[in-house]
Amino acid sequence: MERKLVSIQHIDHVEPIPGADNIQKARVMGWDVVVSKGDFAPGDACVFFEIDSQLPEGAPWAEFLRPRGFRVKTARLRGVLSQGLALPTSILDGDTPPVGTDVRERLGVVKFEPTPSDARDVAGPFPGAVPKTDEIRLQSMLGVLEELRGHDFFVTTKLDGSSATYFRPLEGPLVACSRNWALKPGPNPVWRMVERYALDTVLPPGFAIQGELCGPGIQKNRLGLGETDLFVFSVHDTRTGRFLDHADFIAFCARHGLRTVPVEHVVTGEAARAFPHTLARYLELAQGVYAGTRSRKEGIVIRPLVERHSPTLGGRLSFKVINNDFLLKDED
Ligand code: AMP
Ligand code: MN
Repeated sequence: MERKLVSIQHIDHVEPIPGADNIQKARVMGWDVVVSKGDFAPGDACVFFEIDSQLPEGAPWAEFLRPRGFRVKTARLRGVLSQGLALPTSILDGDTPPVGTDVRERLGVVKFEPTPSDARDVAGPFPGAVPKTDEIRLQSMLGVLEELRGHDFFVTTKLDGSSATYFRPLEGPLVACSRNWALKPGPNPVWRMVERYALDTVLPPGFAIQGELCGPGIQKNRLGLGETDLFVFSVHDTRTGRFLDHADFIAFCARHGLRTVPVEHVVTGEAARAFPHTLARYLELAQGVYAGTRSRKEGIVIRPLVERHSPTLGGRLSFKVINNDFLLKDED
């Protein structure tokens, strides 16, 4: 599902920042965010913009972010981590809708996308039979922790490349896609993987694989790869409309000679039942470097071993936790 990039939320808590006269620290969902003093009292509604919100140019309330290219990023102000942006509901000029309402379109906000694919490469729309890749941020959906509690689960490393989807329809040629579009066959890195892994013959009809393309020239190549490679994180069976469970996903990739994203932990049985599913614990697990490198990792992605529907997310239970050190020091 598309996450709610901009929504109406409650301010849960406000506290002073030592030595700061004009700003305060507020809590919204699982996020700490710095706000202007006097804007909010606990319980007030606000318009909350998640990090990676790209604000519209020309709106008076967005003007203060012009020097930063109108993008909401993680910041540290007076030593306080600030993630997101909380503004008074008066910017909506009009009625304030109920808490939880998505106001992204009403305010003209889009998600910041690092590398939009070249229009010349686009062959057509993303195939409707396959869900697009996306992961919700834990801090925006703390309710998923309750949904995971007691279940076996696994943690993979979040790679910082670009998303690729390969779909072999029941009939007709393979479709290879970037995050949002089917791409024309050509020298682009998405299609290079088709040759490398013979995806047009290896994928059973009706199946799609989704993975992160990493390598030279893609983002910062933090894995330090000598050539581009594909790290699979999902296998989808369009005939059943389901993602493969962890064990089947691992076996599928092994059988077809595909690499997966690094699996950091598989937590089962008593350990899974006793696991402390807290934001603090996951923020710890998100820290560290990519194995065999000195580059800070972007974070982790958490899923149950057996696929589950999440009522909170309205889709598969799966979420990401981004490494705060990465957000502050490495993010472009
Ligand atoms: P973001 O990069 O913030 O847009 O987060 C969602 C994206 O993370 C997905 O669309 C994938 O392209 C990417 N991703 C990287 N590593 C993983 C992983 N281990 N599991 C799932 N998605 C991943
Ligand atoms: Mn990404």
